[in-house]
Amino acid sequence: MTTDPTPLYAERYATENEMEASVDEVFDPELEANVRAILAKVADDPGREGLARTPLRVAKALEFLTSGYKTTIEEVVNNAIFESDADEMVLVKDVEFYSLCEHHILPFFGKAHVAYMPNKKIIGLSKIGRIVDVFARRLQVQERLTNQIADAIEQAVEPHGVAVVMEGSHFCMLMRGVQKQGSSMITSAMRGGFKDNPSSRAEFLDLIGR
Ligand code: ZN
Repeated sequence: MTTDPTPLYAERYATENEMEASVDEVFDPELEANVRAILAKVADDPGREGLARTPLRVAKALEFLTSGYKTTIEEVVNNAIFESDADEMVLVKDVEFYSLCEHHILPFFGKAHVAYMPNKKIIGLSKIGRIVDVFARRLQVQERLTNQIADAIEQAVEPHGVAVVMEGSHFCMLMRGVQKQGSSMITSAMRGGFKDNPSSRAEFLDLIGR
């Protein structure tokens, strides 16, 4: 059993693009024009000062929040796979994630817990947070996000088993009052030993406080 402190969210975001908007800057004219069209529909006064550079800011924010489409797992893993005799569960828990639901383009966010059972290979632990980010920075549903993370770990380290549990709060539900405030959605993907062996699954769930 090894654990590692989860990398700080800020460290993982060192390359975040500048979301602020300087005067006269043009980032993506087509996307900005589309945002301007939305503002013309929904805003009180699309021409007022506070909204003047909103199309530019929204374009930049969307570019960043969907940047996972332009990143491959190979780039992220970047050879950080090491040979090892370790055969005990490796767990990284409480990995913060922020994503956008594909149905409303509203945020959902929470924590991911990722574990695997090594089979001669281990992965640099900071890479697990990066793998979570690659799939979270897309238009998602939480179920698919959970499975994609499990698939990526499986492909990267070919372990005996993978377990991913995600707890997420969804703005599209919270803001409409469909869901009780503070409640969250839990999804899981259990593969290999975590699926087949109840005691391994129970150990994992116990360690993440479930
Ligand atoms: Zn939604």
